[in-house]
Amino acid sequence: MSTVALEMPAEHYTEKIKELKDQKNAVILAHYYQRPEVQDLADFVGDSLELSRKAQETNADIIAFCGVRFMCETAKILNPTKRVLHPNPESGCPMADMATVQGVLELKQKYPEAAIVSYVNTSAEVKAISDVCVTSANAVKIVSKLPHKQIIFVPDMGLGNWVKKNIPDKEIIIWRGFCPPHYEFGLSDLKALREMHKNAVVAAHPECNPKVLEHADFVGSTSQIINFATTTDAKNIIVITEVGLKHVLYKKNPNKNYIFPEAMNYCGSAVYCCTMKGVTLANLYTTLKDEVNEVILPLDIIQKAKKPIEYMLELSK
Ligand code: SF4
Repeated sequence: MSTVALEMPAEHYTEKIKELKDQKNAVILAHYYQRPEVQDLADFVGDSLELSRKAQETNADIIAFCGVRFMCETAKILNPTKRVLHPNPESGCPMADMATVQGVLELKQKYPEAAIVSYVNTSAEVKAISDVCVTSANAVKIVSKLPHKQIIFVPDMGLGNWVKKNIPDKEIIIWRGFCPPHYEFGLSDLKALREMHKNAVVAAHPECNPKVLEHADFVGSTSQIINFATTTDAKNIIVITEVGLKHVLYKKNPNKNYIFPEAMNYCGSAVYCCTMKGVTLANLYTTLKDEVNEVILPLDIIQKAKKPIEYMLELSK
């Protein structure tokens, strides 16, 4: 006999989570790719850079971080005395898992003069051996500010290629990692969407395939896409990034038409990150109630990984 799990209505969790948050002096941070109901409950919704800053500024005792593992680790690195809870510890980032400490150190041996520049989408251990971190919002700015002529860029080849294109006078040695949802969306997929929406402009995230970026009208991080898409004169905007961003776009400017590559609206690849959707109201509630799923990192890793993150925050001002 099969059993059917009874789902509590969203309001049930929403009220209880709000109560717990107040009782425990907790703050809820959520990435733009999170489920809409999680975004609506969060104290702050943002991209990786904004969330890093918020994590650093908060006076809360507990940070409930609705995102993937590397984001929670970053919050812990910036707040070693606070408790950072990850509602779904299974939610990692496949791209972050593609970079290994050993592989990066081997590259450094081959290019001893190069700076190791790590996208924030890396493990705490990889950050700990890096010179500076970057996000998709500031990668070009930070790499151009570094005195090094050679850069080892880890782990995203989409963003790495974008940096290389924008800073042609530096040698960028790019790790061959990628974000599956963004990178697997191909040029033929984009052409199919353009064909369906002939008057639309295209905004794409730099984690996308370089061929897609070549055909985009605007390339930027999630925050930069929000700014572009909600303020452009164009009424129809094709947005090539994770579909979670749709929620905030309609909240900020509901008078436009945001077209995302979703499985149901055309026959190509959807840009959907399963691990980002691993945080739910149910596991956020349980995590806060029982104060479980705490992010624990060795002290030496925290101390070493903090330097490249703080250097990024300083250079991105
Ligand atoms: S969208 Fe891509 S980079 Fe972001 S968590 Fe998912 S797999 Fe990782």
